[in-house]
Amino acid sequence: MERKYSRVLLKLSGEILAGEGHFGLDYEAIRGICEQIVEVAGEGIAISMVVGGGNIIRGAQTTSIERAQADYMGMLGTVINALALQDTLERLGQPTRVQSAIEMRQIAETVIRRRAIRHLEKGRIVIFAAGTGSPYFSTDTTAALRASEIGADCLLKATKVDGIYDKDPAKYSDAVKLPHVSYMDALQMQLKVMDAAAFSLCQENKIPIVVFDVLKKGNLRRLLIDGENIGSMVS
Ligand code: UDP
Repeated sequence: MERKYSRVLLKLSGEILAGEGHFGLDYEAIRGICEQIVEVAGEGIAISMVVGGGNIIRGAQTTSIERAQADYMGMLGTVINALALQDTLERLGQPTRVQSAIEMRQIAETVIRRRAIRHLEKGRIVIFAAGTGSPYFSTDTTAALRASEIGADCLLKATKVDGIYDKDPAKYSDAVKLPHVSYMDALQMQLKVMDAAAFSLCQENKIPIVVFDVLKKGNLRRLLIDGENIGSMVS
């Protein structure tokens, strides 16, 4: 069967890396996700990743520190997450490179688009850290940006729920799952899946977004190798 996607960008929020907790790193949860990633990478899918930092600090919600400063702290949090992912993936035998949008020569490469593409061609997973490198942005916007830059054919938004709902399924038992949503609807309905900047970048560059539950083992394979229509799609 022909595969729908050959080069994807996987957005992992910090919350996912915290496992059951909301703060810090849950190495067992991280390992579980990395095993899934290594499995699909082994099948020849080129994988790049953008990692969030909500498990360490969320700049926009920190009131005791000036916004831009807090945002830089948030971006540094994403670098910690990227290094944890890198180590876990490499222990599983998967070559990786971390590229940081804030220069940190001792621990990561700087984001260089053509170099990132070269890594992907060589079968390495590229983990993009430090967001866009600028305050007032989110890692969702970063994901849309990097997906556009590297020519990803899909942005996979990994979440704890199995798709997009008309209202928060954690709060409302009558929430209805929407298998497909247009970019316009996603923007107008102000779906909390991603921010507006991320949606519009994907729309402009015609990159579909698949929202899926990454905590369910095997979902990445179902999506990328078996071609199952799991989760919800924005296109
Ligand atoms: N951030 C930023 N610029 C960026 C990306 C991220 O300033 O381009 C900061 C922002 O403070 C954000 C924090 O980094 O709150 C962590 O990212 P985010 O909240 O997007 O992570 P996630 O919710 O995916 O864990």
